[in-house]
Amino acid sequence: MAALFWFVVFLAAFLALAWHRVRLGTATGVIAALLLVCTLTSTGLGLGLFLWLLFAAIVVPLNVTAIRRRWITRPALDLFARVLPTLSATERTALEAGTVWWEGEMFSGAPDWRRLERLPEAELSAREEAFLDGPVQQLLDLCDEWRITHEDADLSPEAWRFIKAERFWAMIIPERYGGLGFSAYAHSCVLAKLGSGPAGGTVGPIVAVPNSLGPAELLMHYGTEAQKDHYLPRLASGDEIPCFGLTSPHAGSDAGAIPDRGVVCHGEWNGEPVLGMRLTWDKRYITLAPVATVLGLAIRMYDPDGLLGDDVDLGVTCALVPTDTAGVHTGRRHFPASAPFQNGPTWGTDVFVPLDCIIGGRAMIGQGWRMLMECLSVGRSISLPSGSTGDAIASARLTGAYAVVRRQFNVSIGRFEGVQEALARIAGRTYACESVRRFTANAVDLGEKPSVASGIAKYHVTTLAQQVAKDAMDVHAGKAVMLGPSNPVARRFQAAPVNITVEGANILTRSMMIFGQGAIRCHPYVLDEIEAANDPDREAALDAFDALLYAHIGHDLSAAARSLVMGVTGGRTSAAGRVRELAPHYRALNRYSANLALVADLAMATLGGSLKFRESLSARLGDVLSYLYIASATLKRFVEDGAHAEDLPLVRWVCEDAFAAIEAALAGVIRHLPNRPAAWLARALIFPIGRRAQGPSDALGRQLADMLQTPGPQRERLTPRCYADQTHRRGLSLFEAAMQATLDAADLQARLDRAVKNGEIRADHPAERIEAAAGRGLFDADEARRMRDLYALQMAVIHVDDFDPAEMQSVVARERAQTSGPG
Ligand SMILES: Cc1cc2nc3c(=O)[nH]c(=O)nc-3n(C[C@H](O)[C@H](O)[C@H](O)COP(=O)(O)OP(=O)(O)OC[C@H]3O[C@@H](n4cnc5c(N)ncnc54)[C@H](O)[C@@H]3O)c2cc1C
Repeated sequence: MAALFWFVVFLAAFLALAWHRVRLGTATGVIAALLLVCTLTSTGLGLGLFLWLLFAAIVVPLNVTAIRRRWITRPALDLFARVLPTLSATERTALEAGTVWWEGEMFSGAPDWRRLERLPEAELSAREEAFLDGPVQQLLDLCDEWRITHEDADLSPEAWRFIKAERFWAMIIPERYGGLGFSAYAHSCVLAKLGSGPAGGTVGPIVAVPNSLGPAELLMHYGTEAQKDHYLPRLASGDEIPCFGLTSPHAGSDAGAIPDRGVVCHGEWNGEPVLGMRLTWDKRYITLAPVATVLGLAIRMYDPDGLLGDDVDLGVTCALVPTDTAGVHTGRRHFPASAPFQNGPTWGTDVFVPLDCIIGGRAMIGQGWRMLMECLSVGRSISLPSGSTGDAIASARLTGAYAVVRRQFNVSIGRFEGVQEALARIAGRTYACESVRRFTANAVDLGEKPSVASGIAKYHVTTLAQQVAKDAMDVHAGKAVMLGPSNPVARRFQAAPVNITVEGANILTRSMMIFGQGAIRCHPYVLDEIEAANDPDREAALDAFDALLYAHIGHDLSAAARSLVMGVTGGRTSAAGRVRELAPHYRALNRYSANLALVADLAMATLGGSLKFRESLSARLGDVLSYLYIASATLKRFVEDGAHAEDLPLVRWVCEDAFAAIEAALAGVIRHLPNRPAAWLARALIFPIGRRAQGPSDALGRQLADMLQTPGPQRERLTPRCYADQTHRRGLSLFEAAMQATLDAADLQARLDRAVKNGEIRADHPAERIEAAAGRGLFDADEARRMRDLYALQMAVIHVDDFDPAEMQSVVARERAQTSGPG
């Protein structure tokens, strides 16, 4: 009995010391004191002696620096250097390019919720609000989706002029150059609202690309003053249309492998002899290339004749080439799926341009990869997550409205549990998308270049929006399948792969980037340990590594203790943020954060550098990090929205969905970890009483489905700033008018349904039933008018288009048929 008692005491002491990461000296003192009491009170001499010897064998090497350095740290350093992930130059540049933000906190194993609460809220200035309500709304009014996607395969000339005149391409350009100088958050809100428009898939990229990774962004950060003064005002006014070409037929995801080149040489420019380069490139998929006046190019520079120095391969370099330069080929178009924004190939062979065309001038030769990586994390935080969020928001509103208006089996389809399941996923995922969009754009305004968070936002928001689009299709069913101006959802579904593919295709982003970068960037010690291990001064390396190693071991012991205790208690003992209603979620996240810290280190320790080739493991570890990020962004958003109690079901749904995904990912890592003892240890510590997260319940799902079908402030908060045409009743404005009318007339409809059921009214057709009810005095004149109006609105919503066969031909085929004439 006494042995059991002391076992429990020592275990509890060890867990408490590890949990709180008590310093080694203090921990040694506490254990020694307990051991003393134990030997004096309970153990026999033999056992006492054994325990003290064991204790000494462990603590002496740890506490005596000379012994520790020689017998533990040095071999560990050698081992670490052997298993260290080898970093290529491009990987190193990518790792060093960004900053670590909240995702680092999630990786720490013990997130500081006060830090989350202290983050300032994202806000819009009056000028930015006015832009959203004015020019953004007006631009969307100018975009006739069906004409754009089916007839013209382009925006109207008026819309193009409007984009330039209102400086849509200049959101990131400072006002002193004639730009709008918007915050990242405002920029994101503009793209989200554009994404919510019916033609968002086309107009969105046209606006997004010049504001994202492209000439303006690169010039602002790296351009010479002369380049900035020349180009930025012209880009801001739309006098120059930019595009940026990185992707080649042979280098898509592996962008560092571009074969496009620039060879330093002498030549002639504007009649003058100058030092320049001969550019040869073949790029594809380049947004705006067909209409661009200035072409940004990523090429690899070579100096075979030593005109600049001794090096021949100078590395990736970014140049700006006017498209009217002799030998530049642009103008042909690709045809992106159901979102025909201007996109096409560009190529050129031995096109001579002066070295002044290099962004940042000669000083930036060879710096292209770094420049692209640094700007990419900012662009990736904004463009695609924002467009996809707008898309999800519009799908959510349309589908909620449709579920009210469309009746089958004499009830609105939104009353069926099967449809409610889809509506719940739509609502929950839309809430998550908007939360992540805001959170990540705000990080950019706080000065971050969050490379890992931007990967999370890019992958998850575009994937969630695609899932929302798919659920929207399923709920609209035949209405969604039949293309035409009356179909508000199909183009969203068809165009979703665009955002999935660009700026890092999603499979690659999930499998390689999120955890691949996160493990090194967000980990509190690994990057410093890699640097120490690579230090050629072995004594300095040993000094640095000694401190890091013991802090790292403390981190792992803490993660293990926290995982075990919270695995049993569900995190009940851990620190939560201040909002009481959110406490269970904060605490669950504490547990999963500790799990991630533990399992990531077990995977890295047992697989070393080969972990980066184990993409399925890396992807699952990335999923854990991602869902921690998504859930914490959601907690932050709830508070920013005013902490309305009626929004709590949305938070619960997102968190419970995230927790189930996290547990599935952790179980997947444990199942597939090649080192089985490490896997068993992980299972024992992470799931001491098994997996518990079950995902959102049906009852919770029904609450979310109701929110989408109930007009009011809560639905507005869930789907903010969604575009609706205010001048014509079409698209969303039609759907919402019909939804409101359906809900307003619910009592009349119920009266009519009862009359049909009890045989009072015998007509089969809904319109005839209304007339019969009016004729029998079941409705007074006003009620009959309301029901007729409602019927007309419902018919307009469920209407699908039909075409004369000739209308279904492409415009080109029609023109060809007309010009060739009969026979
Ligand atoms: C509409 C559109 C607009 C674009 N605009 C531009 C632009 O303006 N400028 C520009 O330079 N580029 C642009 N791109 C190119 C875009 O960035 C690339 O399409 C993207 O990088 C993917 O390259 P890829 O299509 O060749 O796919 P691939 O590289 O061939 O990849 C095929 C598949 O393999 C996966 N994959 C590849 N490597 C790995 C790996 N190591 N691990 C796991 N999975 C992997 C990818 O995720 C993908 O699913 C655009 C593309 C599109 C479709």
